[in-house]
Amino acid sequence: MGVTKKPASKGQQGKAFKVTLTIMETIDTIRARVKRLRLEFADAKERTQRAQQEENYGLMDLRRKGKTMLDETEDAKDTYRNAVDELWTEYEPKFEAKLLRLADAFLDEGWTVGQIEDFSDEEYALTLPLLRDGHHAGIRITLLESLATDDSLEGIAFGVDLDADCGHVIGGMTPFNYTSELWIPLNSTHAIAERWAYIMHSDDYEAEHVLAEHFKTCESLSLKGEED
Ligand SMILES: [Zn+2]
Repeated sequence: MGVTKKPASKGQQGKAFKVTLTIMETIDTIRARVKRLRLEFADAKERTQRAQQEENYGLMDLRRKGKTMLDETEDAKDTYRNAVDELWTEYEPKFEAKLLRLADAFLDEGWTVGQIEDFSDEEYALTLPLLRDGHHAGIRITLLESLATDDSLEGIAFGVDLDADCGHVIGGMTPFNYTSELWIPLNSTHAIAERWAYIMHSDDYEAEHVLAEHFKTCESLSLKGEED
């Protein structure tokens, strides 16, 4: 496509140049503006990407931290379980000694006592089976775990329970139960020994008395007695 150049007068030429110049300026202005906008756009895009990246890193970091926390919790639980296992090795003979003392008291009062039963597959506990007038009862000593009880790593406690075949939980003792002092930290060897002393020095004849009284007054047991 050819362009026909028309000779123009001087005045017309100057005017045309001026107009062209204005257009050129305008085009330059537009170009500059477009360039600036592009730069701004690129800048905004980069900032958005950077923010996104930072957010991703933040999330990754959080996930990493979360995983670390879970691992730490698992490690702490393992440490807890191992410490309880070790404590059980130390305290199982003490539980046994206390149950043997109780057995003496019950024998003294005319009860029949059985062999101590070990339930440590399920929980850290030993039970002394008791028999009188055809009715069964038992005294159980338990090393209670905060992890098994309320999923905490606070420590351990000791508990004694008296129960009978009437299905009643007749008595027992868990020193500091329902208080903030119930759990003793596993590293507090002295405090654990002190707590055990409550159980060890509890009155064996008192336990016998409580069970004997229950056998006399429990309606389920007397009904059963009549049936027999
Ligand atoms: Zn009863």
